[in-house]
Amino acid sequence: MNQNSRRQKAVFGAAILTLGLMASTSSVLAEGVVNLYSSRHYDTDERLYSDFEEQTGITINRIEGNADELIARMEAEGANSPADVLLTVDISRVVRAENKDLLSTVDSPVLSKRLPQHLRHPDGLWFGFSQRSRIIFYAKDRVETPPATYADLAKPEYAGMICARSSTNTYQISLLSSIIAHQGEEAATKWAKAVRENMARAPQGGDTDQLRGIASGECDIAISNTYYFARALRSDVKGLSDSIDNIGWVFPDQSGNGAHMNISAGAVAVNAPNRENAIKFLEYLTSDAAQQYFSAGNDEYPAVPGVALSPSVAKLGLFRQDAINLSTVANNAATATEIFNAVGWE
Ligand code: FE
Repeated sequence: MNQNSRRQKAVFGAAILTLGLMASTSSVLAEGVVNLYSSRHYDTDERLYSDFEEQTGITINRIEGNADELIARMEAEGANSPADVLLTVDISRVVRAENKDLLSTVDSPVLSKRLPQHLRHPDGLWFGFSQRSRIIFYAKDRVETPPATYADLAKPEYAGMICARSSTNTYQISLLSSIIAHQGEEAATKWAKAVRENMARAPQGGDTDQLRGIASGECDIAISNTYYFARALRSDVKGLSDSIDNIGWVFPDQSGNGAHMNISAGAVAVNAPNRENAIKFLEYLTSDAAQQYFSAGNDEYPAVPGVALSPSVAKLGLFRQDAINLSTVANNAATATEIFNAVGWE
């Protein structure tokens, strides 16, 4: 072997060594990444994400913002969007992404098995991973017979007692959308008109403000999502936690359709560059441990049946849920807004 060929062999050997290194590096990276566009921002989410990274070797890149910003960003990025997973709260927001063709269908036996049918899109465009109910709260010392149903809120006996938020709010829209789905437009219109007439004040503020209205005595009855109340049970919420013992709650329609539900949802982006990892992440979210982190982060109910409730949510307890598919509810949103406008629920 001459000197030249020896050098060639050495170079070749180095090349093999380099290739070997590249191969081993890429096998570490083979699991890759998943790019998460998330409107969540809860402390317990850190464990949620680090557990997934440890279990799978997949690195999570998080891009956080409110749902509208994230959806606008996905739209602007188009086919080049790095988004793999979109996480939102409230069905209306994920349906907004669905209607802009930003989501892709997912056929996963794990997701189909773990999540109840009504909490996922029929074609797998989105999946609910935690849920909240929109229920009735009341002042124990001032309301002897609280409303037992949503329909009861329209009764004249509650005149001047109810606090509710603006009709531009997605939670309000989803609730009326479900009433339209169950009872039709005419009944929903009568209901919205009568509830508006029963209000103690013009609609204002967020859900916590409706509950604060009970605490301050301005309202006797309020409509709010469960997690705002559970949060005030768990930690100090100004103007609410101190008087929370005087606030009772009713899960409406327990002998009828069940209480109105909404979800925090996840979906795989239509142009997801890491689609397999995105599906793995959604599947991971249905594991018992992930369900606990995910739901506890926002004092919500887990979506997977049988998963333990966080302590604050356990105080509210289990109840009969409306099992209408949220796709059906979301499709009535425009009609709900028309009804609110027609009856003067501002
Ligand atoms: Fe909220």
